[in-house]
Amino acid sequence: MALDVPLDSLFDYLAPDATGEDVGLRVVVPFGNRRLVGVIMEVADQSAMPEERLKRISLLLRDVPPLPAEVLRLLRFCSEYYQHPLGEVVLNALPGRLRKPLPLPHAARRRFRLTPSGRNAGADELSARAVMKHRLLQALREAGSLSRDEAKALSPRAMPVLNEFAARGWVIEEQDEAAEGREAAPPAVAPPQLNAQQERATEEIFGRLAGGFRVMLLYGVTGSGKTEVYLRVMERVLAEGGQVLVLVPEINLTPQIEALFRGRFPHVPLATLHSGLSVGERCEHWLLAQAGRAGIILGTRLSVFTPMPRLRLIVVDEEHDSSFKQQEGLRYSARDVAVVCAQQRGIPILLGSATPSLESFRNALDGRYRLLTLSERAGENAALPEIRCIDTRRYKPTEGLSEPLVAALGARLARQEQSLLFINRRGYAPVLYCPQCAWVSPCPRCSAALVLHLADRRLHCHHCGHRERVPPSCPGCGNPDLAPLGQGTQRVEEALSSLLPEARIARIDRDSTRRRHAWSQMLGRVREGQVDILVGTQMLAKGHDFPRLTLVGVLNADGALYSADFRASERLFAQLMQVAGRAGRAALPGEVLIQTRFPDHPVFQALLRHDYTAFAKDLLAERRQAGFPPFVFQALLRAEAPLLETAMDFLARAAAEAPRAAPAVTVYDPVPAPMARLAGKERAQLLVQSASRRALQSFLQEWRSGLALSAKGRVRWSLDVDPLEF
Ligand code: ADP
Ligand code: ZN
Ligand code: ZN
Repeated sequence: MALDVPLDSLFDYLAPDATGEDVGLRVVVPFGNRRLVGVIMEVADQSAMPEERLKRISLLLRDVPPLPAEVLRLLRFCSEYYQHPLGEVVLNALPGRLRKPLPLPHAARRRFRLTPSGRNAGADELSARAVMKHRLLQALREAGSLSRDEAKALSPRAMPVLNEFAARGWVIEEQDEAAEGREAAPPAVAPPQLNAQQERATEEIFGRLAGGFRVMLLYGVTGSGKTEVYLRVMERVLAEGGQVLVLVPEINLTPQIEALFRGRFPHVPLATLHSGLSVGERCEHWLLAQAGRAGIILGTRLSVFTPMPRLRLIVVDEEHDSSFKQQEGLRYSARDVAVVCAQQRGIPILLGSATPSLESFRNALDGRYRLLTLSERAGENAALPEIRCIDTRRYKPTEGLSEPLVAALGARLARQEQSLLFINRRGYAPVLYCPQCAWVSPCPRCSAALVLHLADRRLHCHHCGHRERVPPSCPGCGNPDLAPLGQGTQRVEEALSSLLPEARIARIDRDSTRRRHAWSQMLGRVREGQVDILVGTQMLAKGHDFPRLTLVGVLNADGALYSADFRASERLFAQLMQVAGRAGRAALPGEVLIQTRFPDHPVFQALLRHDYTAFAKDLLAERRQAGFPPFVFQALLRAEAPLLETAMDFLARAAAEAPRAAPAVTVYDPVPAPMARLAGKERAQLLVQSASRRALQSFLQEWRSGLALSAKGRVRWSLDVDPLEF
């Protein structure tokens, strides 16, 4: 039995009525003085526990079908790979409503609808003696769909036959109301004519649809029409009676994509799964997917665990996005889990991005993934925006805004075009910087910058633990005025309204869009031209088309160039490429202006040329040399405690007790976390890495069992496998 408790074991209970068929069913069991929901993982005749100590389950829940074997298999993989208790992994995969120790109110009435492949199925696929099967198929062909009652009226044994048809993809089961709703469905939106590159990519993917597991990386510049490629491929899979899972990084993107899918496939039931849904909706959509009734499942990272009996294709849009990584609890990467899911189920998976992650790109270069490229924009405006740097050593910004940028904003205002100011405000740790010669404090042992810690006035390396004193003057040029790089710019918005008082400014970030509909209202106002200048953070960068937006200004990018995080420049490039993609999407040409003290930096040089490939290859060469991912595999042991000392002590003990028999694994020194203090807790971390994923896995397995024992006192710890943030 899997239970939602932070223990590494499963639990044995007596369940006299359960059979092997019941694996994956929910049960209610007594646990201490509580009642918990569990999931049956195995049914056995005996237990290591003496029988008189075994408790009996309270209730076997048959209200919804059991979690299918392929989902349990994926969850077992996650538990092992991410070193997380299986019970928590399994229970967290269920929608909240099914984690309550109560049966679900009875599901609504159902209909079985014939799919195109059911319509085309030849009579010879059924044995000649199966008279009743022929009769049901015939009835379906005449009526298009049958309710349970209608089917049972044809034969009392109709249900198992219809289930068999569903398994073959000939019929799909759907809610009655959904069937009524579709009469009113809008006519399908006519698709555009594919361009040659889209055509080639689509044909290539078609060729792989029946070929089993294969990862394809669709690398397409912003506006190249990747979505159109997804749509064509989905159309084919849906026509064949398959289900498609589409993963997107941001809940804010789902309404837009959902509208697009519904417009193109008005007759296909679609289930969305993300944290913005009510508990009831979430459960209902999950059940639609599980019953095989939803053809399209569109969701954020958690939807990767949804049961989908007819799953034939997975699409991961913006595969490089770090939102696919869960940063607490089970710290999984939904993109990576999706690849494993496709592998386990023997189906193709399509990863799409304008700036693929270095992990995926390397796999494509090595031939493990199939690379499909869209190098040109689709649609009327085929030109990519022009990108330029404003050197802020020459044009000193006041209140964060340089004079050329303000002039460009003014020009757009005069032409009634829109502008976007992108403020890179992510929590980059401060590094020490020389404004005269652009020296940035390096770590002598790593290819990362040292981080300024004001508490002890020292520079720390967050990778290897190296520390040194703050130099009295710049080691490069002797300038005594060294400064921390990358502070926030909350005041930009204010400065802007005094510089351009007639401009209508809208700020978009997590705070201004917290209310449920605030975000879509804001987008609506922008589309209707009620806003001149948008000021915002990463939320704005992703996938929104604003036809009158012709200027993108970028502030505060420099902090990321010399960040302590070795992934910072990869992320910056992706972000700027994406935000640049917002400029000039319709008939008007776009321009991007980046304020920086380092206009010659390779990140910007690559951006100006729109050259992801060269940039990625350079970064990969650098990572290979420095021994960073994707050339090594990492795991981070995180610890938090009321006192930093307690957390550091725990990590030091953990390092000392690390399994010796693992020469291929390097254990670094414990270091305070970049944000050492969070919510009153002190946090520290310990990095382990290996060139072999397998060596790292078996090391972690062994190490973890000892960790629980050495975690005395008030330390909380967790393992982060393939960490993205340090
Ligand atoms: P991406 O996702 O690659 O950034 P989109 O899929 O958003 O690009 O496509 C950009 C725009 O181009 C959209 O408005 C889309 O409708 C349009 N588009 C895509 N393919 C074509 C095509 N073959 N012909 C004309 N317009 C297209
Ligand atoms: Zn200097
Ligand atoms: Zn270092």
